[in-house]
Parts: sequence; structure tokens; C-alpha cells
Amino acid sequence: MSTRNTYGDGTRAVRAGIPEPVRNEPVLPGPAFAAHFHLPGEVAGPYTYGRDTNPTWTLLERAIGELEAPGHDDADTVVFASGMAAVSAVLLSGARSGDTVVLPSDGYQALPLLREQLEAYGVRVRTAPTAGEAQLDALDGAALLWIETPSNPGLDVCDVRRLAEAAHERGCLVAVDNTLATPLGQRPLELGADFSVASGTKGLTGHGDLLLGYVTCRDPELAARVRRWRKVVGAIPGPMEAWLAHRSIATIQLRLQRQWANALAVSEALDGRDGVSGLRYPGLPSDPSHKVAARQMWGYGGVVSFTLPDRAAAERFLTALRLVEDATSFGGVRSTAERRGRWGGDAVPEGFIRFSAGVEDTEDLVADVLRALDAAGAR
Ligand SMILES: *Cc1c(COP(=O)(O)O)cnc(C)c1O
Repeated sequence: MSTRNTYGDGTRAVRAGIPEPVRNEPVLPGPAFAAHFHLPGEVAGPYTYGRDTNPTWTLLERAIGELEAPGHDDADTVVFASGMAAVSAVLLSGARSGDTVVLPSDGYQALPLLREQLEAYGVRVRTAPTAGEAQLDALDGAALLWIETPSNPGLDVCDVRRLAEAAHERGCLVAVDNTLATPLGQRPLELGADFSVASGTKGLTGHGDLLLGYVTCRDPELAARVRRWRKVVGAIPGPMEAWLAHRSIATIQLRLQRQWANALAVSEALDGRDGVSGLRYPGLPSDPSHKVAARQMWGYGGVVSFTLPDRAAAERFLTALRLVEDATSFGGVRSTAERRGRWGGDAVPEGFIRFSAGVEDTEDLVADVLRALDAAGAR
């Protein structure tokens, strides 16, 4: 049953990766727990050894591919044990000593660790902020441009199409970290990127109960390179995680529509409040990211960031919340928030809050946030 390009996101999501119906078999076959598969005689695929392939991954990879690149049968997805396994696969499988890679200076907090690893292998790393034009200026002689848009946690947005064109003119490949947007919010391959890479731990699966990562690309050589890296490093997802992820994708549109609406409502409620500064949400028309975001995104994500006057006010706010858990990560069905400065990895003020909207009723969530803000006495 082809659900490729003609249907809406919700329709494609419930059918994504579902195999042709087989009488008396389940609609979504259960996880295949197998280290090895029956293999009499000659070595022949598709399933031989559990580090190389697994039928549960195959269905999940098809599902993600149908969301990241609808209508493109050449899209190839490779799933990994975590987002960082997927990020590392793109950065480390292609980099050669002497190459130059451009990374965001304001990207995910584990990127600096990866930078150290790249430099130890003789790769030159340049960094540039996501906002503004600095990434364009860093492209000359580069082999790979790494884009994170919207950036985490600052929520700056850059113009993927423009950067991809400029990079390709210089023979430079482009990878986009699509974690925050998810494939329902943004489709990097359609915007010209060579790789769409994401942590499936966040909004893609949305229940905060598993780690997963993936890479989608359309060039068979790039896909083969990433797949080979997975075999070499062995950063494979367990069949149970892969199956849970596939099961969760069926509800992705329902979850994200509510999360995006809640994020917008929370950001509107915080806008202009005493004690709240540096409010960022790409879906707010007044946000510095909004114009570019509106051109390339279908939805603006479930993360809102803002700054309270100091560390103590931020801690009081988090403690006073009843419906929002103080926890890291984002994109889950239960709202979470944290004082990002507690990790020490991001260049953010002490009172900086990263807020992830869940699927609670909008009125309840907004009321809880405003009540906690009052309780924190943040002015
Ligand atoms: C969480 C995250 C990652 C890493 O994903 P894991 O699944 O935690 O390994 C990478 N990029 C971004 C933008 C993230 O938010």
C-alpha cells in the first residue's frame, strides 16, 4: 500500500513502514530478537547477523524515510542506538585528516566533545553561530557543513536552502540536525541538505522511554558509508527500542500538533511578563527566527526558551511547577523544563530556562506556568 506523497502527515504517519498485509499476521510485526538468523550454505541477505541488519530496523527505517523524504523512493535511512551515534556516524565516517568541517558554535552540548575527537584525527574544525551570515563565510575549502536549526537551546534558525546552495557550489556536503523540528516540522533533504540526522529520543518517539538516532540521505554512496560505519562501530538500536519507536511514530502528528500549540500558547503567555527576558520561540511572529523559520518549517517545535532574573528565581520557578517535570531532554508527551546552566556546557545566563511543551490541555499548562512564575516572584 503506497502512502507516499499524496496523503497528509497524519495519514502517512499511521501507515509509515507498515508491511504489505499478510493474513493472520500482526499489522506491525513485533520486535525480532535475534543475534543471528538461519543461514545454511552460502552467505546471502537480507538478514544474516544482528549487528548488520534486523527486520525490525528495516520497517522503522522505511517509516522514518517516508516522513523525512515523502515521495522519494531513493531515500535511505539508517537507525542508530542514539542521536549521538547517528551524529558521529556522519561526522566521523566521512572526515579525512586534513579536511575542514564547519560546526555550529551554539549547537548541541556534545558537539564540542566531537570536535575534540575530530581534531585528534587531524580534521580542522571551524565554528560559526547559527544566526546571521557567519556560516556562509566559513564554507571556503570545507568538506562538510553541519547545521542545527532550530539550534538547541538558543532556538536560532538559519536558511537551509541558501546554505546548502552555497556549500554545494564549493563542493561541500551539508548535514542538518533535525532533532528539534522532527520530519513533520522540517524536511532538510527537500531544502537541499545531503543528510538529515536526528535524535529519535526526543519528539520523533515522544515518550521519554528510549534512545534512538537516525540518518536519512538520498545518495546511495553516502548511505552505504553511514551503514558501514554502523557495522564497524556497532552502535545499533535494540529490537525493542526500534519497535517501540515505530509504534510511537503512528501518533507523531497528534502529539506534535498539541505540543506545538502548547509551546505557542506558553510563549504568548510569557511574552512581555515582568521578570521574563530573552524569550525565544520561532513560531512567535515577533521572534528574530520567525521569518526564516516560516519559509522552511511546517511547524515550529515544542521548545520555548527564556531567562529569569537569576539562578535562584529559575530554581524557584522550576520547583513551583506542578505539571512540568524538572528534567533534561525535550519533545516528550509530558512537559519538562530545566535550568540549562546547571550542565555548564551551553553559553547561557544562569536564569536560562529551556521549556519543552507536552500534550497537556493548553489551559492547564499555561495556568501552571503563570502560577509558578508568580510563586517564583521573578520580577
Ligand atoms: C538530544 C540531541 C542529540 C543527541 O541525541 P541522543 O539521543 O541523546 O544521543 C543531538 N542533537 C540534538 C539537537 C539533540 O537535542
